[in-house]
Amino acid sequence: MTTTGGSIFDAMLQEFDGAARILNLEPGIWRILTKPKRQIIVHCPVQMDSGEIEVFTGFRVQYNIALGPAKGGIRYHPDVTLDEVTTLAAWMSWKCAVAHIPFGGGKGGIICDPTKMSRREVEALTRRYVAEIIDAIGPEKDVPAPDVNTDAQVMAWVMDTYSMHLGHTSTAVVTGKPLELGGSLGRREATGRRVMLTTREAAKHVGLDLTGARVAIQGFGNVGSVSAELLAALGAKIVAIADWKGGVYNDAGLDIAALLDHAKIHRTVAGFARADPLTNEALFGLDVHILIPAALENQITMANAGSIKATLVVEGANGPTTPEAHRHLHERGVFIVPDILANIGGVTVSYFEWVQDRHGYFWTEREVNERLEQKLCEAFHDVLQTSVKYRVDMRTAAYIVAIGRVAAVTRMRGMYA
Ligand code: NAD
Repeated sequence: MTTTGGSIFDAMLQEFDGAARILNLEPGIWRILTKPKRQIIVHCPVQMDSGEIEVFTGFRVQYNIALGPAKGGIRYHPDVTLDEVTTLAAWMSWKCAVAHIPFGGGKGGIICDPTKMSRREVEALTRRYVAEIIDAIGPEKDVPAPDVNTDAQVMAWVMDTYSMHLGHTSTAVVTGKPLELGGSLGRREATGRRVMLTTREAAKHVGLDLTGARVAIQGFGNVGSVSAELLAALGAKIVAIADWKGGVYNDAGLDIAALLDHAKIHRTVAGFARADPLTNEALFGLDVHILIPAALENQITMANAGSIKATLVVEGANGPTTPEAHRHLHERGVFIVPDILANIGGVTVSYFEWVQDRHGYFWTEREVNERLEQKLCEAFHDVLQTSVKYRVDMRTAAYIVAIGRVAAVTRMRGMYA
C-alpha cells in the first residue's frame, strides 16, 4: 500500500510547495511536513441484518501532531481511499494551524454505503471501527468529528465505545456530539457564521459596504443557509441561491426565512414562488459584489471564471476554485478568501467543545460566538498581513502562516531518536 503519491495528495503538495518555497523552508522540515505521521488501515467484520458477515475497510490518518492531538472527521462513503483520507488529514493540519488552535491534523474514513445499511448495521460498524483504532485515539491523541455521512449520533456511538473500553465516560475523545452528551452550543452554525464573519472582514478590507451589497451563494445546506441568514441580518442583499436541483433569483433580495421554510419542505430552493428560476451556471456570472461557493469542489473553473463579476469570493466549500481559475481571478483583482481560512468555523468550535468537555464547564452560545469571532479576526489579519508582506494572494498567505507555525514548533521540539 502506498503512503502518499496519489493525485489528490499531489494537488495538496503543489499548494504546500508554493508556500514552502517562499518561506525558504529547510529541506529536512520540508520532508517531515510532506509525510503523514501515521496511517492506520483496519478491517471491520460486521454481521449484517441478513445474517451474512461483511468486512469493511477503514482508515485513520494522523498527518501531523506537532501542535497537539490530531483533529479531523470520519467519513462513510463507498469512494473513500487512503490517499483521500491522507490528503484531508494534511489539510486539517494546515486548517488547525491557520485557525491558531492547538491541534494537529487527522482524518478517518470507512469504505461503505450507509444509505444502503440499517441503523443497527451502521452502529455495529462504527463500534467495531472504534474498537480497532482505540489505541490511537483519545482526548490527548486524536479527536475525531463528523464528516460526510456521519452525524452527532455516530459521534455518540464513538464516545460510548471508547468510554466502555476505558471503564469511565470520556466525552472529550470526539466532537460534534449531541448537546446532552457534552456537545457545544453554536457548533451547528459555526462554519456558516465564520463565513459571514470572514465576508464582513474581507468587505472592510476591499472597501465594500455590506449594507445593500449583492450576494450570490451556491449551496443552501449547513454552510450556505447559515451564511445567507447571517449576511442578510448584516444588511447584505442575497439576490441568488442555487443548489443541486436549480436556483432562484430576486433582484430585490430573497426572503431567506421564507426560503428556509420552502427548502425544508421541498429539499431544494428550486420552485420558490417569490423569485425567478436560475441555473447553477448563470449564478456565477451574475452582477453581484460577493460570490460564496458553499456546495462542492471545482465549481469555479476556467469555463466560468471569465464571466465572474463579483469583486469578492469567499470559499465556504472545500476546494471550490481550480488553481487556474484562482490565478485568473487573482490577476483580475478579485479578492479571494480561501477555504482554509474561511470555512474553519466548525473545527474552531470543535476545539471549544473539547476545551469545555475537559473543563466539565459549558459556555453560553454568546460566549462561543464571541470567541469564534475573536479567533476569526486574529486569523484573518494574520493571513492578510502575510499576503501584504510576501505580496502573495490570500491562499498562498494562509499556507505560509500554517506551514510557518507547524515548522516553528517542529524545530523547537527537535528530533527524538
Ligand atoms: P450540506 O450537505 O449541508 O449542503 C450542501 C449543499 O450543496 C446543498 O444545498 C446541496 O443541494 C448543494 N449541492 C449539492 N450538489 C450540488 C450541485 N451539483 N450543484 C449545486 N449545488 C449542489 O453540506 P455543507 O455542510 O453545507 O457543506 C458544504 C461545503 O462546505 C462542502 O464542500 C463541505 O466540505 C464544506 N465544509 C463544510 C463544513 C461544515 O461544518 N458543514 C466545514 C468545512 C467545510
